[in-house]
Amino acid sequence: MRTLAIIGNPNSGKTTLFNRLTGSNQHVGNWPGVTVDRKTGTIHHKDKQVALTDLPGIYSLSPYTQEEIIAREYVLSDELDGILNIVDASNLERNLYLTMQLIALGLPMIVALNFIDDVENLDIHIDCEKMSRRLGVPVYPISARRGLGMEPLLDAVVDEQMPAPAFQPAYLHGVGAAFRRGAEILADTDIRPCSRPFYAAKLLEDDPQIVSHVTLTPAQRTELDALADALSAHDIGHDHEMMFADAKYDYIETIVADTVTRPAKPVLTTTEKIDKIVINKWMAVPIFAAIMFLMFWSTFGPIGSAMNDALEYLIQGVISPTLETALLSAGASAWVVGLVCDGIIGGVGGVISFLPQIVLLFFWLSMLEDTGYLARIAFIMDTLLRRIGLSGKSFVPMLMGFGCTTPAVMAARTMENEKDRRMTIMLTPFMSCGAKLPVYGLIAGALFGANAGFVVISLYVFGIAMSILVGFLFKRTVFRDVSSGFVLELPPYRLPTFKGTVRGMWEKAKDFITKAGTIIFLMSIVIWLLQNFTPALAAAATPETSILGVFGRFIAPVFKPLGFGEWQAAVALLTGIVAKEAVVSTMSVLYGAAGDAALGGILAGVFTPAAGYAFLIFILLYMPCTSAFATMKRELGGWKWAIGSAAFQTCLAWLAAFVVYHIALLF
Ligand code: GDP
Ligand code: MG
Repeated sequence: MRTLAIIGNPNSGKTTLFNRLTGSNQHVGNWPGVTVDRKTGTIHHKDKQVALTDLPGIYSLSPYTQEEIIAREYVLSDELDGILNIVDASNLERNLYLTMQLIALGLPMIVALNFIDDVENLDIHIDCEKMSRRLGVPVYPISARRGLGMEPLLDAVVDEQMPAPAFQPAYLHGVGAAFRRGAEILADTDIRPCSRPFYAAKLLEDDPQIVSHVTLTPAQRTELDALADALSAHDIGHDHEMMFADAKYDYIETIVADTVTRPAKPVLTTTEKIDKIVINKWMAVPIFAAIMFLMFWSTFGPIGSAMNDALEYLIQGVISPTLETALLSAGASAWVVGLVCDGIIGGVGGVISFLPQIVLLFFWLSMLEDTGYLARIAFIMDTLLRRIGLSGKSFVPMLMGFGCTTPAVMAARTMENEKDRRMTIMLTPFMSCGAKLPVYGLIAGALFGANAGFVVISLYVFGIAMSILVGFLFKRTVFRDVSSGFVLELPPYRLPTFKGTVRGMWEKAKDFITKAGTIIFLMSIVIWLLQNFTPALAAAATPETSILGVFGRFIAPVFKPLGFGEWQAAVALLTGIVAKEAVVSTMSVLYGAAGDAALGGILAGVFTPAAGYAFLIFILLYMPCTSAFATMKRELGGWKWAIGSAAFQTCLAWLAAFVVYHIALLF
């Protein structure tokens, strides 16, 4: 089967097109950097099949970031039979730059001109036939999102006779001629013949990776050097890479001038109109604050907690008693009933009842992401952070950390600067991930009643503030370096699609339920057993004498200065390392509470508000769960880094909780 790759700039609609062509369901985000690794699918069309790969977005074949290097290596490998180059029609100049480099590869190739719907709304017309003649490759106008222009594109994609570029562009200023001559010099190398113009350009640019890829004879080396010197004589003061870029942009300009007709009076795009208000100097921060408030108020305030209560009633008021009666009438022994009702239903049910709030939070997060507002948050933050020497670019992965730390840590791959990348990975766990939400909901609900929403907002803000503060210190010590500029471009605003939103929520709900049904389920059983047996494996008379009680009381003094010295809290924190939700299930089991409402009542007697808040601060900051930890180990490149940062986070959590507790005591 032939293999094609979708190649294009970030946020040009690659994944949307990939999903449409292959019928897959990959995550689409209005946000550069969403597709970090590659995905493969199959196109079935008119009895023909083609394998299609979705790659991370790249701006050029001169890689700077890790993901660009991965993408280029794949493009240069032999796995590829052809290229489906997706071009954002509303941003032609920049997108065609990559197209020109792809043409130099000489592989069979077609261009899909995406966003044709947006462009037409702005009254801009693009002559695709003419563009196709000027580029030497077929050009198909499409809208991946609306599904326009798919038939002709599909016909072309499955065609075995997909043509290679008809010619190599005749760049001016001697550049085109130099590429042709360079390709001739490379005639006897083992490079794929059609890709010689590309390699010639890269060798003339002295691209280090390409230079080490290609073995040249001394004669070839001399000839290439002479060619490079001759070029320098043309244009003193520029390096070759810049000179080639200029020649390409000049060429692109003539193509655009030839094929695009714009209205006499440009239409102000909706995005431009909205941004005039949303990222306005005075309005940006109030709007941001208002949106955040709305998001957390609806999730943790009346709406979220009403849904939570309803689900809890179902679990504790209906399922649990029914099951208990059924088990008793079937003659089950008291300990089996205890294990099932207190251990399993108590633990798993305690976590599951937070499902509505999780779904609500993810509804909001996907709204923020799909509309394009999340990118504005990073932009707004950047202007603030720049003043203290940090880059807003770190905010991209960190905001994803509101969902889950694991993918957020991987998203840091989009950062060019290695020190910034490491720093970002170490700061991401300070964000309040979705798994911390049930713990916040439980404790804040139990201790702060109507003010729970505000308490939770304060935790989110505390996490962000902590990451800024620590980032500021890191930047002046361990990670001293100049930050790279902010290159995140602001994507246009878009209405979220119903399908995309539902898909995002469903996926999260599925994750949450799966985790509750596996890890939390097992942990609840283990915790219940450890709490009902003494170290000598006899039935424990009181929980204090159980294995957990003994162990818990051994470590609890560590937390005494933070206000929560009970052994149950210590054990819960320990299980939270496996998964943060486990803090809730462990507490349910340990306090033997029937449901979160009952548990809340018990906790209100155990924790003072000051201790409860300190406990939440500790949950917010201490080391991430095992899955995030494993990802950090991989992305940071070693145990030393991972253990170091987990230890740092835990110490910081202890200190912060200590300070917060003692300040809170003053009030
Ligand atoms: P990728 O980063 O290249 O994979 O881009 P995505 O497929 O994630 O799409 C980026 C954004 O562009 C999403 O919000 C899509 O819904 C949107 N989008 C993709 N294609 C089109 C299109 O043809 N027209 C419009 N209006 N939006 C599109
Ligand atoms: Mg993508």
